[in-house]
Amino acid sequence: MTELQSYGLRLDDPASPNAGVASRRGGAGPSDHKAVTVDGHTIMVPVHTSSAWQSPFVARAPDAEGHSTLTRGAIPIASIAFPKAPRFYARSTADGIPYSQIATLHGADVLATTVLQTCIRYESRRKTCKFCAIGQSLAAGRTIAHKSPQQLAEVARAAVELDGVKQMILTTGTPPTPDRGAQILVDSVTAIRAVVDIPIQVQCEPPDTDLWFARMKAAGVDALGMHLEVVTPELRAQIMPGKASVPIARYMESFKAAVAVFGRGQVSTYLLAGLGDSREAILDMSRQLLEIGVYPFVVPFVPISGTPLEDHPAPTPEFMASVLEPVAAMVNAAHMRSSDSKAGCGKCGACSSLSVYEG
Ligand code: SF4
Repeated sequence: MTELQSYGLRLDDPASPNAGVASRRGGAGPSDHKAVTVDGHTIMVPVHTSSAWQSPFVARAPDAEGHSTLTRGAIPIASIAFPKAPRFYARSTADGIPYSQIATLHGADVLATTVLQTCIRYESRRKTCKFCAIGQSLAAGRTIAHKSPQQLAEVARAAVELDGVKQMILTTGTPPTPDRGAQILVDSVTAIRAVVDIPIQVQCEPPDTDLWFARMKAAGVDALGMHLEVVTPELRAQIMPGKASVPIARYMESFKAAVAVFGRGQVSTYLLAGLGDSREAILDMSRQLLEIGVYPFVVPFVPISGTPLEDHPAPTPEFMASVLEPVAAMVNAAHMRSSDSKAGCGKCGACSSLSVYEG
């Protein structure tokens, strides 16, 4: 799985991108990926990136049920499946917005949305996070800029009732307000919780005051993600010049305050391996995070077409294994396995094989 996520997947049949759940291009989260079930695990695999076009892994044209064969160098190595498009994708709101533009299915059973599809960081070329594609799906008309609490509640209820979705994740671009999106997330979760009982993770930058964590919890948030992405200070300034204005020390303070509200293992952060942080830097940060009760979700960087880093190489499977194996051992020793979290990307696990290493 680590190799498949590092190299990506070529699709034998030009129609394959439409098999199962449509692949995602642009946007936040697993962009340029497609959901594929391998050995009972549904993972997000790059299919539209330039490295995927040269991948040794090829998926043969799927049958009507979405079943396919994975080959490596023409040798069949596994049976795989493309999960079917969820039923809720066929619906639209009363004002004609397709539900799929409001929230999407991630992995096997996760409903995910970017509440605010605009971001103060992304609006300036100088400040943008160079790996991010949050504006691409908006520019292409595949999503809407701001999903209202009512729209999110309507789609969440349908996804639970029609497709048995098990958890929901709300991320947001960063608005120009000191709360960094916390109020929008609180309003959204309040509306969703009023209509459906589903574990929810929200994701944002550290807000101006830690009081937001109690407000989030009161609204019905179960888990929180605040994403460092890159940990070496000089690299942060280079790769995400806007976001790096919030120093790591502020993240650590916020993490501690959030863990006091949500509990150990219910606060997490993305660490994108392959952007230049050394193995030691990632392991050292993972150790510090686990000590304060934060789950380090180490994910392979995926170069997304159209971003300034589209030609930056994806990490090798060897580098990923050299990081994921010790991080998983640390996670196990800290008794903070991904499966123990109530909601979130760590629990979903489709973007990294970390949970597989956890055993
Ligand atoms: S790990 Fe997070 S971003 Fe990746 S598919 Fe799961 S919910 Fe989506």
